[in-house]
Amino acid sequence: MNLAADTPVQYLPGVGPARAKELAKLGIRTAFDLLSHVPRRYEDYSRLVPVAAIAPGQNVSFRAEVAAVSEDRPRPGLTLQKAVLRDATGQILAVWFNQPFRLGHLRPGRRFVFSGQARWAWGRLQVENPEYEPDPGEEPGRGGVQGLHTGRIVPVYPATAGLSQRYLRRLAAQVLPLADRLADPVPKELEERLGLPPAARAWRHIHLPPDEASLEAARRRLALAELLVLQVGIGLLRRTARAGTRRLAYRPRQPGSLSERFLGTLPFRLTRAQERAIAEIDADLAAPHPMNRLLQGDVGSGKTVVLAWALLRAVESGHQAAMMAPTEILALQHADRLGPWFQKLGVETALFTGAVPRARRERAARAVESGEAQVAIGTHALVGEGLSFRRLALAVTDEQHRFGVRQRARLAGKGEDPDLLVATATPIPRTLALTLYGDLDVSVLDEKPPGRRPVRTIWRGEAKRAEIYRWLARKVREGRQAYIVCPVIEESPEVDARAASEWFERVRRAFPDLAVGLLHGRMRPKEKVLAMEAFAAGKTAILVTTSVIEVGVDVPNASIMVVEGADRFGLAQLHQLRGRVGRGTAASYCVLVADPTTPEGRERMRVMEREDDGFRIAEADLRLRGPGEFLGTRQHGLPALAVADLVRDQDLVAVAREEARRILRADPALSCPEHQALAARVEAAFGERLSRAVVT
Ligand code: ADP
Ligand code: MG
Repeated sequence: MNLAADTPVQYLPGVGPARAKELAKLGIRTAFDLLSHVPRRYEDYSRLVPVAAIAPGQNVSFRAEVAAVSEDRPRPGLTLQKAVLRDATGQILAVWFNQPFRLGHLRPGRRFVFSGQARWAWGRLQVENPEYEPDPGEEPGRGGVQGLHTGRIVPVYPATAGLSQRYLRRLAAQVLPLADRLADPVPKELEERLGLPPAARAWRHIHLPPDEASLEAARRRLALAELLVLQVGIGLLRRTARAGTRRLAYRPRQPGSLSERFLGTLPFRLTRAQERAIAEIDADLAAPHPMNRLLQGDVGSGKTVVLAWALLRAVESGHQAAMMAPTEILALQHADRLGPWFQKLGVETALFTGAVPRARRERAARAVESGEAQVAIGTHALVGEGLSFRRLALAVTDEQHRFGVRQRARLAGKGEDPDLLVATATPIPRTLALTLYGDLDVSVLDEKPPGRRPVRTIWRGEAKRAEIYRWLARKVREGRQAYIVCPVIEESPEVDARAASEWFERVRRAFPDLAVGLLHGRMRPKEKVLAMEAFAAGKTAILVTTSVIEVGVDVPNASIMVVEGADRFGLAQLHQLRGRVGRGTAASYCVLVADPTTPEGRERMRVMEREDDGFRIAEADLRLRGPGEFLGTRQHGLPALAVADLVRDQDLVAVAREEARRILRADPALSCPEHQALAARVEAAFGERLSRAVVT
């Protein structure tokens, strides 16, 4: 057949409408999709050994002849298909379970290549459920050629229940010729400079690697293409972001203005990092195009002050500003903290969260619409239908890692090309930041306010819980407050609420004469607020909670945190949680209760004991868990990477970034013939975002 990149899979031999539907579940619709459906992992069955040399516990392949077959029925519902396999050196038993069709293939006298793992069972060595295919040496025309399922490095694909690995392998092998006809986005010169194979070979080798070294070269070659597409896309986004024109101008910074008076009322001096961030934002606000800036700083580095200052810059220039936070509690806390400060300066703040009664919210909406309220603070309730601004100049998003690009864009949509400032406490290595937030400029708060007392972190096993709780009760009697974080892993509303309530009962029983509160994400907004207020006012001594308090919560008298099931949290998350203590003058503690069963698990607990720097913890996390999980639920809005690994391939990320810049400088519209393949891939990967960016 005439195979093209956009040939629907349905027309490939062996695929009908039913299989096409299954393939669509994997996102595979065309021949090119199939080619880019790269293996998830590989099994190395390339070691062909004589039967006598088969050892237990290893992946092995061997050529053998079927000597005898039989079927047993040890009990109802279980049949065993057995084959005695032999070569010149010896024989071995192969066993399959409930697979009667095997007897149809495995006729005595036939020769196959088998791959699988051998193990000891019933006092003898046997291979269970091995894969096999006719010995290529036996088939005319295939002599010496590697098989597809055995005797080689075998690809294992992401699959669904309806599609077997054998089937996916056959399909992939079928579309490999397509690789020779694909236009390649990577300049030849770059490929050669890096000593990488041509794309056509890389596609073949990623599916059917002849050996480990070729596989790694293929992976890097395809990763390079992916990263180049990514970086060019980001470059274009960046350019579009800077192509807009500022609609609302800011007055220059001057003594006596609201923002300056605000800084003057602070009970502390800004850190140098805060000063620097403020200067960077100020320069953005004076530029002819809107600001797109990320404010990155570890927990407690003092981001709020910088954000508040920016809000006031908009207000003093006669405009409105909005600040969106990911949780009810954080939005309320911002309103509580900034509201009074702003009020003293004559600035009206309106609050929008689910907990605010409807009538009050409507009144607030009218105040924002008329321009009477200059600052709106809230949760995603801010981006709801009901709210429109009179002159929104600045949209601020706090703890942006909790939001998707969409919500950010929707808040921005409440104004005309407003300035955007997003704050995040997710410390990620620089190359990663430049990629994930590539369309943003970055300010970093790399310095903590002075006088912070470090939080002492201690890891203990569950057996020590009673002892820990006795110590905690003593601290509470000395006037301290504590969080007990229980390991509720956002599963389903019912399960979460039940798990949190069970912990609450447990803690209450452990501390019968202390006031214990409960706060979890599934409570009604009103209840959450009450629980938080009671704790902030010192009415409850111990707050049983979940990761809902991960972001922003600030109760200085709470100096102790006990994290139950600590090994079930990510390191970055534990660091965020731990950031809730160490905010007052008392010595602070974070006790991690966990009995991790793996060496990595134990190492992660030790990292937490040892490190208190968010960047170093993030790096350790990346190293220990890999970027997939680390970035797992974060919605950064970039196209998914199938092959490239932003951590392992950091060198390629940098190379691709350089190359992307060079290309966009030389050919800004990607109109040269040699950039057509690149332009098409960028369009396919970023299409929607790029066109949206151009339209708005
Ligand atoms: P985060 O960066 O985690 O959002 P916050 O803005 O909540 O941190 O600041 C943490 C605490 O540090 C707050 O209580 C804040 O008032 C205080 N703070 C901020 N900047 C300074 C500073 N320059 N000197 C002293 N304390 C500061
Ligand atoms: Mg904060």
